Amino acid sequence: MQLKFWLGASVLATAAMFGSAPASAQGSLVMYCGVQEEWCRAMSTAFEKETGIKVAMTRKSAGEVYAQVKAEASNPRGDIWWGGTGDPHLQAAEEGLTEEYESAMNKDLQDWSLSQWKAAKKRAIGIYAGALGFGFNTQLIKEKGLADPKCWADLLNPKLKDDVQVADPNSSGTAYTLLATVVQLMGEDKGFDYLRALHKNVSQYTKSGAAPAKAASLGETAVGIVFIHDAVVFAVQGDPIKPVAPCEGTGYEIGSMSIIKGARNLENAKKFYDWALTPAAQALGAPAKSYQVPSNKNAPVPPQAPKMSDMKLINYDFVKYGSSAERTRLLTKWDKEIKAQPK
Ligand code: PLP
Repeated sequence: MQLKFWLGASVLATAAMFGSAPASAQGSLVMYCGVQEEWCRAMSTAFEKETGIKVAMTRKSAGEVYAQVKAEASNPRGDIWWGGTGDPHLQAAEEGLTEEYESAMNKDLQDWSLSQWKAAKKRAIGIYAGALGFGFNTQLIKEKGLADPKCWADLLNPKLKDDVQVADPNSSGTAYTLLATVVQLMGEDKGFDYLRALHKNVSQYTKSGAAPAKAASLGETAVGIVFIHDAVVFAVQGDPIKPVAPCEGTGYEIGSMSIIKGARNLENAKKFYDWALTPAAQALGAPAKSYQVPSNKNAPVPPQAPKMSDMKLINYDFVKYGSSAERTRLLTKWDKEIKAQPK
């Protein structure tokens, strides 16, 4: 009798969660998504359609997902963490917050995707790549009487005071990539000098990494430091924004995916993981206005994707800058020496 009651209650509760129909055999998947909302929605909808698995998706910036996964470690609520810069995925891997997995799709992946997987000891894998840079509003730059900015150094011009936006590296993977990039490109002391000088020109540190691209496209700021593909989104729709790969060289991201340790829907997380590595799933980025380079060798590269082979890319040390100790140290130092400083 008691068992019957429990079963009845459980069916009712499940039916309430998924609508009036009885629970489907396919079950559900809780997805933490680290790219732009539109691509997140395209991925979750397509996966649901293909498998019948109900996806509960939340979009957050990379540092925020990492913090959530860590906070929930003793009672995990998420199953799959898809997208967002690789460094916080690597930190989560090192801290044992994510699961080891080897997909049959590995054989079709680019070397950089697999090197991320090896660096993470099988707990994260590369799903796309994109380079860091900035976008500037062509009209505002002209109005200020400035030449088109081409280099990181150009962003320190006093005429750009309060006219540069970039995200906060604690929440944003994009902004952490900037922090790690200038440290690698200039050396730590000079890199922090650069960020200190840049601070004078920064009007606000946004939460999400791509927000400064939108602000620059709308003329709310002259310059937005973002992944170059995030500036391309607005340029291709005709907004007065020009994407730039900085002349001194720049860093890049290996956007990643991880299965969360203790996932309640582990089998569905693995199904999503395998599917997300297919060319068809990776082709969903471009129609959702996300122009990264996909990690499956057979996936189409969007024609709008910035050509990374034409850029001066640093040899980004993902292992070091994705390590728990280094990421925590740099973020603490940035909070103290940059963000807390008056202008
Ligand atoms: N936008 C795009 C298109 C990205 O590829 C990524 C990172 O992978 C981000 C934004 C990063 O978002 P955030 O800096 O908010 O963590």
